[in-house]
Amino acid sequence: MVKDKGIGSQTLLKRLRDALAEAGEGQARLDRVTYLIACSLEAEVCSIYLKRDETTLELCATYGLNSEAVHQTRLRVGQGLVGRVADKATPLNRANAPAARGYRYMPETGEEVFSSFVGIPIQRLGEVLGVLVVQSKDERIYSEDEIYGLEVVAMVIAEMTELGAFTGPDKMAIAAQHQLPFFVKGLRGQEGVAEGVVLLHEPHIVIANPVADDPLIETGRLQEALDLLVEEIDALLDKGAAIGEHRDVMVAYRLFAQDKGWRNRMFDSVESGLAAEVAVEKEQTSTRMRMARVQDAYIRERLHDLDDLANRLLRILTGRQDASERGIPENAILVARNIGPGELLDYGKNLKAVVLEEGSVGSHAAIVARSLAIPLVIHAARITREALNDDPILVDGETGLVHLRPDDTVAAAFREKIAMQAEAQEAYKGLRDKPSETIDGVNIALHMNGGLMVDLPSLEPSGAEGVGLYRTELQFLLRARVPRRGELVKLYGKVMDAAGEKPVVFRTLDIGSDKALPYMKRPEEPNPALGWRAIRIGLDRPGVMRMQLQALIRAANGRRLNVMFPFIAQFEEFREARQRLLDQLEKEARAGHILPANVRIGAMLETPSLAFAPDQFFELADFISIGGNDLKQFFFAADRENELVRARYDTLNVSFLTFIAQISDRCDRLSTPLSFCGEDAGRPVEALAFAAMGLRMLSMRPASVGPVKRLLRAVDLSEVRAVLDEALGSGEQSVRPTLESWLKQQRIPF
Ligand code: PEP
Ligand code: MG
Repeated sequence: MVKDKGIGSQTLLKRLRDALAEAGEGQARLDRVTYLIACSLEAEVCSIYLKRDETTLELCATYGLNSEAVHQTRLRVGQGLVGRVADKATPLNRANAPAARGYRYMPETGEEVFSSFVGIPIQRLGEVLGVLVVQSKDERIYSEDEIYGLEVVAMVIAEMTELGAFTGPDKMAIAAQHQLPFFVKGLRGQEGVAEGVVLLHEPHIVIANPVADDPLIETGRLQEALDLLVEEIDALLDKGAAIGEHRDVMVAYRLFAQDKGWRNRMFDSVESGLAAEVAVEKEQTSTRMRMARVQDAYIRERLHDLDDLANRLLRILTGRQDASERGIPENAILVARNIGPGELLDYGKNLKAVVLEEGSVGSHAAIVARSLAIPLVIHAARITREALNDDPILVDGETGLVHLRPDDTVAAAFREKIAMQAEAQEAYKGLRDKPSETIDGVNIALHMNGGLMVDLPSLEPSGAEGVGLYRTELQFLLRARVPRRGELVKLYGKVMDAAGEKPVVFRTLDIGSDKALPYMKRPEEPNPALGWRAIRIGLDRPGVMRMQLQALIRAANGRRLNVMFPFIAQFEEFREARQRLLDQLEKEARAGHILPANVRIGAMLETPSLAFAPDQFFELADFISIGGNDLKQFFFAADRENELVRARYDTLNVSFLTFIAQISDRCDRLSTPLSFCGEDAGRPVEALAFAAMGLRMLSMRPASVGPVKRLLRAVDLSEVRAVLDEALGSGEQSVRPTLESWLKQQRIPF
């Protein structure tokens, strides 16, 4: 720590703590902090710059520079030596600062007389909050011990900033963490608006006392927590929760927990006077900084393990509970960096919305959010850092807007939108029992997509005529091991029970690509979306598909059964898959099981190739469903998971719509029932265009049935077709502008 100086290191930390405890203004506290540090180091200047926003640093307190410069001097991150420290998040130590590269002289501060400069990032958990600067007239280089000591001090300042210790009456005056309104525009994951309070999936830890009263006691606490950490991991290993590859990972994880370097760095910080929690955070901060710089996937993974261990350690030290243990407040809106489908499902129906800092539209968490029928915003930058538990929050899943701690006018406007949506929902309820029929008498069957038990209660209230796509892989994704056949029989039976008289189309396991089963070894593939997935795995590894088909036959137990094979790219694949089902039916009959009353076998059309299959394919298939999510990505060569290209090509693009019309005509000619079950079927304007091009069955998330039905009932489909035919021949890229302006002209809301 800061050696050979007027005030010993632990004394300095204790004085800093006392400054924090004193009553008074945040500014006075911050001034005192700079004074104490300058005295401790016998330096002429100590200044604290805090971030005002992502790119600007502001001089917030100084001992030694002109006091008039406080709150006046600002610089950009990256600018001058101070900006460089913030940008690189590493200390800078110069004996002759004016001669250093990038030095920027700020005349209002009067700093020209100072020669040496040391800048230390004030950072917490990978986020730079500001810069601590010490300057002296004499040319000197600070020792490694001194730099380390200053890092410890900076850590305490970071904790104090987090606590709001420096916030003044004018909240803008000094970086007011977590108090000002914060607004972010993310991306649409799932439509809908919601107002509620933040529920952090991993809550922040606020450490009330960053300085230890007695380092010996803190050392003991840290040791105890480390012992508990290893015990926790051992228990996980013993419980057998870890199998196969997962076990190897846990064993490696245990080794990391015993890493001497990792432990010693934390013990050193405790000895310097930090509370055990802050010592762990200090180590975690440097891990995260390294993580941000390292490209190598293997090293990143290891750093990730260390980060995770630190999280566990903090949970032990603070008794912090995760959201799932803490209880879910009313109107909770879950905020997380990312979340898996299983974890999201654990929160169940108790959430009003979900906001993710990462995430993707095609992810399984997104599919679960859709099943739960709650708004979802993804790519909401910085949201996990800005949000605190119980902060008021507004979410608009349609536009991707998220308002944290909104001011009254924003909240009022939002409530109006929520009220309007509620009104619309009421109106949709009134449509539930009305036919989905256009003015000119064309019936378009509307079905729902599902895949979880929580979906099925939506079947009745939505007014859907059946389940047009039941994604069976979701049940496989939520488990730690392959489900047993008996479990599947029960599950599928329950699905059919819940659907009653309404038909359910079970799609066989569609895994691979982004849907990786945690317990299944898969080859490394250069391009998994074009790789070994869905029916390709089903045909190559027949065991699981056979088991699934058996389970479906037994679950039907004399009832109707509809089975659909995913990702069929050529006739032969369908013929083979179909034959497997027929074989299975025969075997089941021989074994004395009751056969389904009627078996229909269909294929998903998700690759352009299948649209050009021989007529015999269309004749053999009992039905075909267009998987528009995949079909569109392959048609335009635009990855559905890649936010850079995903939305580049409109579904109502003339090329795509012409293609859909051709498929529809072909199915018509060959009398093959056709439906569309990708996400676009649930978007009213898209659904209308598909209907106009000939589709007579659409399958969508339950919440879309009402809006789609309302629009279909308001139009004359032959008129829509005429509008589209004209637009298709106009040379425009998309028919959307023409169709939407026609709807507006007709005063038909959409
Ligand atoms: C599709 O591709 O449109 C589809 C419905 O399947 P999934 O989204 O599950 O790949
Ligand atoms: Mg698909």
